[in-house]
Amino acid sequence: MLYYSTHKQSEPVDFQYALLKGLANDGGLYMPQSIPKLPEDFWHELPSMSLEETGYRVAKSFLGSEIPDQELKRICYDTLSFDMPLVSIDENIRTLELFHGPTMAFKDVGARFMSRLMGFFLSKKQQNLKVIVATSGDTGSAVAAGFFNVPGIEVYVLFPRNKVSPLQQKQITTWGGNIKALEIEGTFDDCQALAKKTLADKELNTKHLITSANSINIARLLPQSFYYFHAAAQLNNTYRPLVFSVPSGNFGNLSAGLLAQKMGLNIHRFVAATNSNDVVPVYFQTARYNPVPSHQTISNAMDVGNPSNYARMMELFGNNHQQFRENIYACSFSDEQTRQAIHHLLNNHQYLPDPHGAVAWLGAREYLEKENNDANIIFLETAHPAKFPETLPLYMKMKGSLPDQLKAIEHKQESFVSLPNDYPELKQLLMYSD
Ligand SMILES: *Cc1c(COP(=O)(O)O)cnc(C)c1O
Repeated sequence: MLYYSTHKQSEPVDFQYALLKGLANDGGLYMPQSIPKLPEDFWHELPSMSLEETGYRVAKSFLGSEIPDQELKRICYDTLSFDMPLVSIDENIRTLELFHGPTMAFKDVGARFMSRLMGFFLSKKQQNLKVIVATSGDTGSAVAAGFFNVPGIEVYVLFPRNKVSPLQQKQITTWGGNIKALEIEGTFDDCQALAKKTLADKELNTKHLITSANSINIARLLPQSFYYFHAAAQLNNTYRPLVFSVPSGNFGNLSAGLLAQKMGLNIHRFVAATNSNDVVPVYFQTARYNPVPSHQTISNAMDVGNPSNYARMMELFGNNHQQFRENIYACSFSDEQTRQAIHHLLNNHQYLPDPHGAVAWLGAREYLEKENNDANIIFLETAHPAKFPETLPLYMKMKGSLPDQLKAIEHKQESFVSLPNDYPELKQLLMYSD
């Protein structure tokens, strides 16, 4: 299968090229030229399939001709070796907990899949690769964990100074080895802009093989579609419309859900729930898309002012606002509403969400009130509540100690390089590293 650029100014490429390149030469994002429909037997077997097998079958429909079956199976089973339970909140609302992986955020799924695929293709090429990733918190740690000690790969994690939580920062800066942490004096958007410049820099790309591990990489998007199938299978209820509420920043997670829908999964609609960084909800209301600088909120992994996957969503909707609205209901919530939601869920449902999950729950509730009170809604819980200053004290009060994955890094020494928000300095650093 070939992948085309959303800017349509460069040639379609095969999967290996799209994976190792990240961003197309014309600055666009890669999209599959066609989206495979899953075969009849897949749907019959889905309700009794394990998460790992579900992932493998979905991946095979995209990558079957690019990677030997046994290899793909191993990569999928390895990527998905943690639980993603569906937990009931009330009659209409459930949550899919995606945070039981090594760095306790859903980004483990995409990062683990991508790192294993890159490891596989590089082992045949005898070439070194530099992976650049900008993070508002969870991407950096998931990518670092996924790539730690993968031979031939060096990872540069760009994080905005003082804008990731202390535990998230530890998860980025305590690896050493092939993981380099770079603190940038700027916002997440600045980090993302710098990362994009490195990918587009001809001189740098002549000297080194460079790619991105942000959700602009198609290899991160594909595996995030797996759990939509698995969640629908666990619910196994076909008579009420199924809606997913997705806490969104760069809209990779939601775009992956749209892929699952296109592959044939019966999803009625998506709720795109954001914090006050609300360019997509504004687009939903007004049909005008106006990227603005991001600002800081308590759900910091969604502090994005110009979501990179907006271009992919618009491709899927033929750049048509009406079609967007038919598939997506978008809404945004303030920090104050998010805090109230956290306490509401804890006091009334004995469930402690993290701030991102709380935004998704608010989206689910608004959808039930305003659009369709008969829907079956699954909101995605994208990170563990112990990772964030808002919810950590509540978690500690409940459980008394950190979960194992976080306990392990609590006292480790941090190490990182500080850089101004200045491309030439970053380029210098990358040019002359080996
Ligand atoms: C990255 C992230 C999000 C946003 O996901 P996108 O795919 O960028 O929309 C939501 N919640 C958490 C915890 C995250 O780390």
